[in-house]
Amino acid sequence: MRIRFWGVRGSTPTPQVENLRYGGNTPCVEVRIHDHIYIFDCGTGFRNLGKSLLTEYGERPIYAHVFLSHFHWDHIQGIPFFQPLYENRDNHFFFHSSSHTRGLQRTIEEQMADPYFPVDMTEMVAHRNFYDIEEERADFDDCRVQSLLLNHPQGCLGFRMETDNAVFVYATDNEPGHSVFDHNVRKLAEGADVLVYDAQYLPEEYAARKRGWGHSHWREAVAIARESGVKELVLFHHDPDRDDLCLDRLVEAARELHPQTQAAREGAIIEI
Ligand SMILES: [Zn+2]
Ligand SMILES: [Zn+2]
Repeated sequence: MRIRFWGVRGSTPTPQVENLRYGGNTPCVEVRIHDHIYIFDCGTGFRNLGKSLLTEYGERPIYAHVFLSHFHWDHIQGIPFFQPLYENRDNHFFFHSSSHTRGLQRTIEEQMADPYFPVDMTEMVAHRNFYDIEEERADFDDCRVQSLLLNHPQGCLGFRMETDNAVFVYATDNEPGHSVFDHNVRKLAEGADVLVYDAQYLPEEYAARKRGWGHSHWREAVAIARESGVKELVLFHHDPDRDDLCLDRLVEAARELHPQTQAAREGAIIEI
């Protein structure tokens, strides 16, 4: 299993020089298992993934499963700029998420509706399939994916991907302090090789003025990793105001409690 980070920033892109070492694109994480492609979230990093896939595949068709945690802008904003959706009639994309209000397909298509975008989704020639999912466990070619709800305004799904010898967990946009969701996140993370987890706020910032915004901090991330026996903790969904030096300091502090910790960085690859 190979995990590659295309977007690691929370809330809004931050193309500022002081943020560029970790990266300014919003969430998108690619997982390859053999030659199968799985994608978690379609923030602005999704655009660069699209360009890379076109270079790699050329005329060959691309098949990918795309898991969306939820529909806040930072997790879907790359979709209209993902070239493989426009390029090849033989490309197939399978979207999986939960949208209680309008259904998954409509929720995604309305992102490009008049007057928000110059063209609508009918310009996309690739096959698009939409699967409305809830908390469930589904089998794919070479892995199983468990989804559970997290604590976030308008809802959010966390995902646990398992193969016979690796466990990857993508759990972002989650606020601690609710018994059901605190349990869900630990259930997802149980024994994971890699846990990607929301660490948007500083612990003191969260306590002072960010309760109810739906995000977490590195101390909670470390607590989950330790309680759940996680091997590698990856702090994710960096706040737009968290510059590279601040992220360095935060990783250093987290490593004192959980040595196998890193902050997600655009372009970084983890092999399990
Ligand atoms: Zn977010
Ligand atoms: Zn969100």
